Amino acid sequence: MIWYPYEQMKTMKEPYKIIDAEGVFLKTPEREMIDSVSSWWSVIHGYKHPALTAAIKEQADQFSHVMLGGLVHEPVQRLADKLQQFLPGDLNYSFFSDSGSVAVEVALKMALQYYVNQGKQKRTKVLALTHAYHGDTFKTMEVGDDEDYHFILEAYGEKKNALHIPSKIPALEEAFEKYHQELNCFLVEPLLQGAGGMRMYDLSFLVRARQLCDQYGVLLIFDEVATGFGRTGNRFVADLVLPDILVLGKALTGGYIGHAVTVANQKVYEGFYSDDTKKALMHGPTFMGNALACSVALKSIELFEQENYMAKIRRIEEITRREMDGFMDPRIAEVRILGGCVCVEVKDPGVLKGYQQFAYEHGVFSRPFLNCLYAMVPYIITEEELVKVLATMKAWFGER
Ligand SMILES: *Cc1c(COP(=O)(O)O)cnc(C)c1O
Repeated sequence: MIWYPYEQMKTMKEPYKIIDAEGVFLKTPEREMIDSVSSWWSVIHGYKHPALTAAIKEQADQFSHVMLGGLVHEPVQRLADKLQQFLPGDLNYSFFSDSGSVAVEVALKMALQYYVNQGKQKRTKVLALTHAYHGDTFKTMEVGDDEDYHFILEAYGEKKNALHIPSKIPALEEAFEKYHQELNCFLVEPLLQGAGGMRMYDLSFLVRARQLCDQYGVLLIFDEVATGFGRTGNRFVADLVLPDILVLGKALTGGYIGHAVTVANQKVYEGFYSDDTKKALMHGPTFMGNALACSVALKSIELFEQENYMAKIRRIEEITRREMDGFMDPRIAEVRILGGCVCVEVKDPGVLKGYQQFAYEHGVFSRPFLNCLYAMVPYIITEEELVKVLATMKAWFGER
């Protein structure tokens, strides 16, 4: 018996059974539908991409996995080299893990130990944003701020080591002034807060955060698990403001297989580099650096570069802006668009009840959450397919 994610099993509706998937399409026994969610924002090249599938098959013929403890292999070496060249600044040190949540955990452990290694035991607090989402493991729930996902944590009482502020510069300045001696890092989903409600905010906030982190010696961590690889219309938000630690997941493998990476800069890496074994980073997920995952990630990045994905994403944004221009309804609070993400925020989440089935009948897969009706489509989508996704969203309001 399968226990499904984020579901009350007693009342959950029957899931759609997928028997095949290709390009932007998911196929059920009775129809095909455009996946407007990209399988939780990861399948950027679409399903059954020949080059990605070939990369996995070729590697599987050699070996699928060897552990990274005391062993190394070409796929992981090549991916680490590729990331070093592909990522901005001195984000050069790649620590691999099996999921975004774990990669955020690793980043938080790095930030805490960075100071512990300097004898600074008091810097235990993490500054984060209200409505932040960083994963579902315990520490990521603590630094997250979303009662809908993580209300269970209330059983522990007040969060001791996490502070939350809105994405507004005065709140940021006040938090640094008040707590800088206790902070080890400021952790953010840059520009776009995904699972917390597709909230978008201004780059100037991150520019100011970088200044304050430098001024007070606090590490800046970007959780780009969702925003990385072009989703905001930037390759990485880290191209605009450079963090000390960058976390990537979801689209890292083109959505083929679970893998993530925590990338540290020179300064963070040097904070661990020592003759003292106690200063080592004590972490090692069993499947870190999995050879299948690294091979497909490498191929995914190559495609991203060679086939000019940034132009594809700009086109998606243009078409989306054109199609959504002037679209409004009294039940809608706001329509937000950024790069390859569009969100129609409704005033009352009840308005979205029944949308999933409506979309299914129109040949689109959608999964609204909270008060967000959104699309984060695969970047290979055609104009016609994208227009259909957006028209379906608009039709929901038009017909009722
Ligand atoms: C999805 C997500 C995570 C968690 O990644 P998993 O692979 O599901 O563990 C962390 N941070 C952000 C911003 C995410 O969107």
